[in-house]
Amino acid sequence: MKFSPTRRQLLKGGLAAAAGLAASGIPRPRSAGAAVGEPLCTVLDISRCIGCEQCVEACREQWQETVPDPVEPMPKPFPSRVPIEDWSKKKDVSDRLTPYNWLYVEHLSLTHKGEEVEVNIPRRCMHCLNPPCVDLCPFGASRVEKNGIVRIDPDICLGGAKCRKVCPWHIPQRQSGLGIYLDIMPSYAGNGVMFKCHRCTPLVAQGKLPRCIEVCPEQIQSIGPRDQQVKKAVALAKQKAKADGAGEERWRDYLYGLFENGGTNTIYVSAIPFHEINRALKADRAQWAQESGIKAPRRAKRAALAGRPLMGPVADTMAEVGNLTWALALAPVAGLAAGLGRLAAGKGGRKGGER
Ligand code: SF4
Ligand code: SF4
Ligand code: SF4
Repeated sequence: MKFSPTRRQLLKGGLAAAAGLAASGIPRPRSAGAAVGEPLCTVLDISRCIGCEQCVEACREQWQETVPDPVEPMPKPFPSRVPIEDWSKKKDVSDRLTPYNWLYVEHLSLTHKGEEVEVNIPRRCMHCLNPPCVDLCPFGASRVEKNGIVRIDPDICLGGAKCRKVCPWHIPQRQSGLGIYLDIMPSYAGNGVMFKCHRCTPLVAQGKLPRCIEVCPEQIQSIGPRDQQVKKAVALAKQKAKADGAGEERWRDYLYGLFENGGTNTIYVSAIPFHEINRALKADRAQWAQESGIKAPRRAKRAALAGRPLMGPVADTMAEVGNLTWALALAPVAGLAAGLGRLAAGKGGRKGGER
């Protein structure tokens, strides 16, 4: 299926909608790493998701083979408390985010207004407007494309996992034993490569739809110029709020991603308020942590880091960092790392498994 909007249409549509949204308080790109073009935004109406996981399968079929197998044996990191993370023998795991699985579907049961309801939520990178994973990557390996896609360059990433630490949803996942750290100081510099959804960058560049959107039998997801998509999401959220008996003015309760972390290019719309969904997610994680034998108080953190993100309120991370002081202090390292990457990897870069 062809992705219909041309560049001109995107620009025209975006500008027209922008006029209506300019004074609405809707977040816009702001930080050093933010996109400067016309970002594309996805809207997901999760009330229509049947949890079939065709999107997950399509993503895996398309991209899993692009993640190389690691070298064996893997260099032992120093200090030894730095964990080796090896998912190469668990590629079939599809119920959480891993380096080989960039999308999963959360299947949730909860009680809403006294009734048991099932909710299915496809989860992946939110493609933030002001992404801390970009601004705070010490090596400049993560960047925002003009179309709003946030992607990690596997030829530059050293796998230090700073992006996962600063991401409010801990999205990127590490595969040890591959990437340029093997050519630099394998035990001391980095620990692999971080992977996450790149919103099907090569396909979108050809004018095609991302695979997870294309294959969805319920067409729960749409993609288009951000300003148009925001208008659509807000209108849909107002409908959901009204239908739920909360009143249109409660529409923000039925949206997720429009305001979180200073705004993202992934907006979920639900028939159930997201604070109820997040309460159920937290209960699920607490139970998981208990069953896994993880002791409080680290329980919540470990659960969140386990590749199954929550949907709670998220403040604007980059505003909190404070005038980007940290990001600017790190900026020179990015150039150094890029140079080292080119030096070590040669043209095109060396991947894990290539000795
Ligand atoms: S393919 Fe569509 S309906 Fe099926 S799980 Fe994915 S988003 Fe939901
Ligand atoms: S969700 Fe996390 S990994 Fe994705 S762009 Fe935002 S900060 Fe980066
Ligand atoms: S946009 Fe592409 S890479 Fe991202 S989850 Fe969907 S299929 Fe996977």
